[in-house]
Amino acid sequence: MDFKLTEEQELIKSNIREFVLQHVEPVAAEIDASCRQPVEIFEKLGELGMMGISYPVEYGGGGEKFVTTMMVTEELARGCATTSFLHSYSYGLVGHPILTFGNEEQKKQYMPGLAQGKIVGAFALTEPGAGTDVSSATTTAVKNGDEYIINGTKTFITNAIIADVFVVFAYTDRSAGSKGMTAFLIPKGTPGITVSKTFNKLGVRGSQTSEVVFKDCAVPASCVLGQEGQGFRIAMSALDVGRIGIAAMATGITQACLDESVRYSKLRVQFNKPIAKQQAIQWFIANMSTDVDASRFLYMYAAWLKDEGKPFSLAASKAKLFCSECAARHTTKAVQIQGGYGFMTGAKVERLYRDVKLTEIGEGTSEAQRMIIAGAALR
Ligand SMILES: Cc1cc2nc3c(=O)[nH]c(=O)nc-3n(C[C@H](O)[C@H](O)[C@H](O)COP(=O)(O)OP(=O)(O)OC[C@H]3O[C@@H](n4cnc5c(N)ncnc54)[C@H](O)[C@@H]3O)c2cc1C
Repeated sequence: MDFKLTEEQELIKSNIREFVLQHVEPVAAEIDASCRQPVEIFEKLGELGMMGISYPVEYGGGGEKFVTTMMVTEELARGCATTSFLHSYSYGLVGHPILTFGNEEQKKQYMPGLAQGKIVGAFALTEPGAGTDVSSATTTAVKNGDEYIINGTKTFITNAIIADVFVVFAYTDRSAGSKGMTAFLIPKGTPGITVSKTFNKLGVRGSQTSEVVFKDCAVPASCVLGQEGQGFRIAMSALDVGRIGIAAMATGITQACLDESVRYSKLRVQFNKPIAKQQAIQWFIANMSTDVDASRFLYMYAAWLKDEGKPFSLAASKAKLFCSECAARHTTKAVQIQGGYGFMTGAKVERLYRDVKLTEIGEGTSEAQRMIIAGAALR
């Protein structure tokens, strides 16, 4: 067993930490307040090779391990949850399915742009009536000659408003159950796609979340991703990878709680001494510090399994469940340590407290992860 990062990984970790301190942390509060997609950060991350660090070199990537990508996702969350979420999303929900299931033409069309941070993708699975129960989706894709005609409504779709490409899931054969779902790669500007509304939300406010309507949207058969009927499998595969990303993001949030709690508790004086001298505060900090390590080990283990080509779906669910619930617990404690100051808009811990909630909902709720984990334990 070897817990050591390679020299290359250590270097990437320290470079990305430097980048976050210089370019991400200073604008994180403004991104949150203005609900602004941090496009310029993604251009810079693309230039640094951080958007496609573990994509194969032939598609413009860095050829690194997936573990390295997740390390970057974690470090980004230490400064800005929105940036971290969008980084993980781009890899797990867009790049991964194209790379794993796409044909050569599709990979050449999208992967280099994703690796450069120049192509933005949206993963369109959830529907108003189909959240956790993905298979109850009602969007259809009906074959008509060489085309498919797509009709349906997708909701809570990240990036829809700025997406260059949509990964869309629709039933081509409802009678075949989950084996009748097909995935499509649909470029922006295709007639019949309308972003009908964009939501205001609690946290991760720099990412845009919208409802998208497909009305008689005709796409050529060349837009099918993978095989017809493989859509459900593609969606689950993408979510497995995305869950490791959310776990890494949550770990970065717990680390940020620890950073902030150490900083503030040494500065804040009550009863003639810094509150860091109080055992009650020390115990909060001890728990955070322990959970940062435990979270990191869990998500890194899931990422390592993926790198080794071993099954990682269960480990991804466990990592997502544990890391997100830890992070949610510690954002509460981090606000508590800062008292009224932590409750005020503008305090970093106030933002973390709101941002963290997404990690328990997006890419499968905690309850969905428990269903998967219990299902495996009771098999
Ligand atoms: C900010 C944000 C961005 C998102 N981005 C995307 C995106 O880009 N693409 C996309 O496709 N989706 C996206 N989603 C949707 C997300 O994946 C869903 O919100 C999530 O899967 C839950 O679905 P739901 O919201 O419909 O909740 P529901 O499925 O209605 O669940 C409601 C509650 O019931 C619980 N529940 C449901 N079924 C069970 C059960 N069998 N047992 C126990 N408890 C159960 C859930 O855990 C939850 O607590 C996004 C969501 C958010 C909040």
